[in-house]
Amino acid sequence: MEKIKYLILGAGISGLAFAYNKRDDDYLLLEKDSRAGGLCQSFFAPGFVWDVAGHFYHFHNEKTKEFVKEMLKGSELCDVTKCAKVFYKGKYMDAPFQYNIHQLEHGEFMECLTDLYYAEGDNNAQSFKEFVRQKFGKGISDKFLIPYNEKLYSCDLDELERDSMGKFLPKLTFDMLMTFYRGGKGSTYNDYFIYPKNGTMELVNSYLKQLDSDRLHLGETVSAIDVENHRVTTDCGTYEYENLISTLPLRDFVRMSGCGDSTLFRSNKILILNLGFDLPSIDKEVNWIYFPGEEIFYRVGFYNNIAPRPKMSLYVEIGCRSDEKIDIPSMLERTLDDLKRVHITDDHKLEDYHPIVVEPAYVHISKEGKEETERVMAAMKSHKVHMVGRYARWEYSAIDDSIEQALALAEEI
Ligand SMILES: Cc1cc2nc3c(=O)[nH]c(=O)nc-3n(C[C@H](O)[C@H](O)[C@H](O)COP(=O)(O)OP(=O)(O)OC[C@H]3O[C@@H](n4cnc5c(N)ncnc54)[C@H](O)[C@@H]3O)c2cc1C
Repeated sequence: MEKIKYLILGAGISGLAFAYNKRDDDYLLLEKDSRAGGLCQSFFAPGFVWDVAGHFYHFHNEKTKEFVKEMLKGSELCDVTKCAKVFYKGKYMDAPFQYNIHQLEHGEFMECLTDLYYAEGDNNAQSFKEFVRQKFGKGISDKFLIPYNEKLYSCDLDELERDSMGKFLPKLTFDMLMTFYRGGKGSTYNDYFIYPKNGTMELVNSYLKQLDSDRLHLGETVSAIDVENHRVTTDCGTYEYENLISTLPLRDFVRMSGCGDSTLFRSNKILILNLGFDLPSIDKEVNWIYFPGEEIFYRVGFYNNIAPRPKMSLYVEIGCRSDEKIDIPSMLERTLDDLKRVHITDDHKLEDYHPIVVEPAYVHISKEGKEETERVMAAMKSHKVHMVGRYARWEYSAIDDSIEQALALAEEI
């Protein structure tokens, strides 16, 4: 059996980015789906372009931004300054909630402000819930951060490790609050982003154009991994490798290779409803809205306000426990009712829709899970097995992280 120098499991953005960095070398990508792209795929209906919920390109590194812009040369790009809102107690206010508490009714504003002033810092927080309460105070936590994130993660935040959201949780200081209060601006990781008008898949297509199609096996599912003997088995055969790059969810990798305890890797799943309507959106500015209340969804985004199109095109995200049964018709019905109640729709009629279930979606980082992730990744490295991407490293990260992790690894091995 011929040994493949770089065997890559999964052809989402992480797998493609790694292959791209070794495009002149000996690599093979194995992908179970019939299309490459993973969560960065796009879907098309007459008048509508949808992703797996909106997948926008935001960056913390100029070099990565320039690289992506170069990859997307020739695509029509939208440069967007974020406009995000929160629907709280029947009214819309600016997001992030914690920076804009002055927009609350006076009593609630004072409550949040006082609680923030007396917040203890985050000295001894064990769980994410404790961390949030210590850092932001009870008011901001109980009104928004805890209910919103419990809808998103679909679990009690006490089950999550304190730094579960890392850089994705907007930080808050009194100075920042005062800047917002006086009409100034603060900064969050995605204040500006770029988005191809024809969907996030444009980047996937750009990678594919520069890779050898014979080295991408679509519709081939990995079923077993033998890390001692450097072998991977799929439903089509067995491959020997020198280096293995896994972008598969760590839970699946651990289950297939027997290298750890897969039960420590818990997550939620989400139902995404991409919805196309016959009329324009009512609010033509907003990019997405957070819903901490009783609505079925935790977030609704407007593709057509980001990449301008005449008719309203939404992604609706609904968090579910991993063991929860997803009844799409009834969840769609409730979604349409709730959209009307929160004034996103009026006389709008649904023209087309596309449901997608993502699992895992948000990984539940627990203390034991984090320790097991670190142990498995370190042990695998000595077997020439490397993990790239959000699910392979069982973390909360984004597309730019995948691109950077892939580049760093390609330079290392
Ligand atoms: C709701 C949501 C919204 C998001 N929005 C953004 C955003 O706006 N901006 C941003 O930067 N990031 C966003 N992200 C994060 C982003 O989706 C991920 O960081 C990124 O897509 C991860 O890419 P990946 O290649 O590592 O994983 P994946 O896209 O999951 O790719 C893994 C691939 O492995 C394949 N695979 C799995 N098992 C097997 C098997 N047994 N055999 C063969 N192949 C297999 C899968 O089919 C898949 O193609 C969002 C994530 C979610 C859930």
